[in-house]
This record gives sequence, C-alpha cells and structure tokens, in this order.
Amino acid sequence: MNHRKMGKVLHYINGQFTEGISGHVFPNLNPFNNEPINEIAEGFAEDIDLAVQSARKAFDEGPWRKMALKERLTYILRIADLIDKYGDEISYMESLDTGLPVAQTKKQAARAAENFRFYAEMVKSRMVGEAYQVDGSFINYTIHKPVGVAGLITPWNAPFMLETWKVAPTLATGNTCVLKPAEWAPLTANKLAEIIHEAGLPEGVFNVVHGFGETAGAALVAHPGVQLISFTGETTTGSEIIRNGAATLKRFSMELGGKSPAIVFDDADLDTALDAVVWQIFSFNGERCTANSRLLVHESIHDEMIARLKERLGNIRLGDPMDESTEVGPLIHRNHWENVTRYIEIARKEGAEVISTEIPEKFKSGNYVAPTVIYQANNQMTVAQEEIFGPVLTVIPFKTEEEVLRMANDVKYGLAAYVWTNDIKRGHRLAQAVDSGMVWVNSQNVRDLRVPFGGSKSSGIGREGGHYSFEFYTETQVIHVALDEQHIPKFGASK
Ligand code: NAD
Repeated sequence: MNHRKMGKVLHYINGQFTEGISGHVFPNLNPFNNEPINEIAEGFAEDIDLAVQSARKAFDEGPWRKMALKERLTYILRIADLIDKYGDEISYMESLDTGLPVAQTKKQAARAAENFRFYAEMVKSRMVGEAYQVDGSFINYTIHKPVGVAGLITPWNAPFMLETWKVAPTLATGNTCVLKPAEWAPLTANKLAEIIHEAGLPEGVFNVVHGFGETAGAALVAHPGVQLISFTGETTTGSEIIRNGAATLKRFSMELGGKSPAIVFDDADLDTALDAVVWQIFSFNGERCTANSRLLVHESIHDEMIARLKERLGNIRLGDPMDESTEVGPLIHRNHWENVTRYIEIARKEGAEVISTEIPEKFKSGNYVAPTVIYQANNQMTVAQEEIFGPVLTVIPFKTEEEVLRMANDVKYGLAAYVWTNDIKRGHRLAQAVDSGMVWVNSQNVRDLRVPFGGSKSSGIGREGGHYSFEFYTETQVIHVALDEQHIPKFGASK
C-alpha cells in the first residue's frame, strides 16, 4: 500500500509558515512500519511567545472580532468547504500519521467540516443573551463577548477532528488562538493551517506551534497573554496544566481520560449489544476516550458473551491502515505499544485469562496489538481501573443491579457509560445513577453536535459541545440599565 514520505512541517505564525527560532526539528514516524515520514519543526517558549503575540495583536487590533458576524461566518464556512475539498488527503495523512484505518479517518474528516458548519449556525442562532426586568426600575441584560487568545492543546488519538472541535467554536465566537497539536500526530494540524491560510483569515487569528508538551505546551499554558486553555489528553497532564496555569489564572476546559463501562443485562438484545461493545473498544484501534473498556455482563450470559467475543476476535480484520477493509491498525507509537502490551502482561500476572489473535508476520515492524479480551477479571484489577487506551477489553461478571452500579462507579474516571437492557425503568434508573458525564442506553456512542460533551470525576472539568461551548469560549457580560430615579445614598452630600 501507499505510504509516502512527506515534506517538512513548519509552524504557522502570523499568517506565515516558519521554521521556528531554534531551527530544531524532530522526526515523525509512521506507526505502520516505524519509518520516518518527515521532520517537524520543534517549537519552544520563544516560538510560543511569537505566536501568542501575533494572536494577541490580531485580537486587540485586527478586524476579526469586530467584523460583521456574517462576514466572520463566511470565513468559517469557507474552512468547512475546504475541509470537504481536501477530505481524502486529510484522511490519508491522518492514517499515515496515526495508524487509524482510513475508512474511519474519512468519517472523521467529514465530521471536522461539520464542526465548522455547526458552530457557524450555532453562533448565529444560539449565542444569545438574557434579559431581566427588575420591577420597572432596571433592565439587566447579558451579552457574550470573545475572551481573547485561546490556547488549544490536543492529543493524537483523533487529531484533526479534535483540533477542529476546539478551533471552530474558538474562531466562530471571535477569539484568536494558538494550537499546540500532539507531537506524535502533527500532519493534519499543518493541513488545517494550510486550509485556514487558503481561506484567507486575517493574519494572526490562527497559529500553530508544533513541539513537545513539556516545552511548547507548557509555555503556552504559562503565557500571560493567553486567557483560556482548552485541553484534551491524559488526566495526569490535565492536573499538571492546571498547576502551571494557576499563576496566570487561566480558564480551563479539561477533556481527560476514561474507563467507561458497558453494562449488559440478560434481557438486552445481545446481538446489538455485542456489535456495539466490539465497535466501541476496537474501533480507533482502541485509542478512544469514550471506549467501553470495561464490559460488565450479567453472570447468566457471561459465558455466551465470552464465546461470541472469541469468535469476533478471530474475524476482526487487522491490517494496513491504508486498506479500506482494515478494521484495526497499528497503535500510534512504539512507546504507547509498550504501555499497552505491559497492561496485558499485568492482567496475566494478576490472574486473569487473556485471549487474542496472532499478528501476521508482515505487520511485525508496525505497532500492532491484536484485539484482546481479558476475562476471569474483577473490578479491582489494574486492567479494570487504569486507562489502557488500546484494543483491550476487560470483562467482569455481575449478579445484581446494585452490584453492577457499585462496580461501574468504583473507578476514578467518569467519562461515558453504556447501559444495555430492555427494561425501560432499569435503563433510566441505572443511567441516572452512573457517575459519568455521558450515558448511552441501548446504543453505541452516537453524538448529536448540539449536546454537551465532557466527563465527571477524573475525566474532566466543564462541558463543550453545542451552546455549552459558548460558556467556555466567551465572556458573559451583564449590563445593568436604570429605568427610573435610583435611591442612591448621598455620602458627603450635606455638610
Ligand atoms: P497527553 O496528555 O500525553 O498529551 C495531550 C497533549 O498535551 C499533547 O499535545 C501534549 O504535547 C500536550 N502536553 C503534554 N504535557 C504537557 C504539559 N505539561 N503542558 C502542556 N501540554 C502538554 O495525551 P495523549 O496521550 O496525546 O492522548 C491520550 C489521552 O487523551 C487519553 O487519556 C484519552 O482518554 C484522552 N482523550 C480524552 C478525550 C475526551 O474528550 N475526554 C478525547 C480524546 C482523548
């Protein structure tokens, strides 16, 4: 299959592609064969500073936030159209960079264009204030204003989609930004810069600085010229970022890790539940924040579920990410591969059974982990408590609703949950009792762009998505207007 080398990727600062001050580069590897794809400019604090200054100037002095909404949204819609135009190229680059199967990255590219269209629509129709009449003596009303310069820090697991998910509401609401994409998946962030350049946005409105978290990312978080940080990534990184942003009192949105349960009762439609559970853990090569990485299954159907999962494992198409028929590709990086395989070893050591398939010889140079099911497990095991972020499903039986609810909630995370039952009362009851930001009942993860997205506990702080993004990406200002004479104390008025 076609795995091309690519040209060097540069930063995008103040409307120009630039090498960066130090001139340093780092290699970008193809997860399919661990060969270099290209070199990436490595940004440091001084590059971040330039990018923030250009975003600051574009916000304070440029036309972006002051232009007529219709005009700003024309740019946003142009970006969406260009994403569609380059959809195949984006999905190719994403698969080359991340190992995600091309059939899945195509859908992500289409979704990315939707993010821009959606926020253009949303800003027009739903970014509305409120008015409070106060006894005929005041009218108080609220308006939303852009906050300033947004720092956007993104992970490698669905890079392009997640970048657009932050960039679209940031720009549509009139902010300017600096994006620091994940160092293991920089290609499509560069494509986004090219698209935004082609769409003709005023210089400095959108900037990208490539580089590592501890240097470029940390500098963005600490920069006094940045008002807000929207971060998606690991929980431990989220804590570090909040610590580092404290001195400059940033506003944070945190989309973090997960260990989400799928709870399957014996009255559920098992065929559908099986399809969904398999899809939810093995799509995106298992590198999905909302994956149902714990399958909590009623004891009466446990053995049948294991037998059917074994059958599925044997049929899942592991392959070249560029092959349209591939269902599971290689993991993003050798370091991550080592981490995931280490968890599988831990499961064995802690006494669980592990089933998986063989990796074909021709794929041995890539970061492949065969889809794996761990059973004879309990909820206290490491593989039931920690996020593995690979194609690894831990299966645990339960007896009663009380027991399964306890297990579902007995993890530090609270991102998503999936409940499978045909008992409508139980479905709602359990959904409402699970500690997680999102629950699906009798469904895989399908998401309407209008609804809130985010996690509870260690899975995140705040909600993005739909109009919920406005609370984060805008400043709410209240304006109090007196309508009659006010009884104002007259300090110092009389001698
Ligand atoms: P990560 O935390 O290692 O890195 C994410 C980003 O943060 C990268 O751009 C990285 O360079 C940067 N970074 C790292 N250290 C930093 C620091 N000290 N200061 C500033 N930036 C820093 O995460 P990852 O490994 O790229 O992504 C996988 C994780 O993301 C998983 O835990 C997954 O669950 C989570 N995730 C969550 C969601 C969600 O919406 N909740 C969605 C996708 C992924």
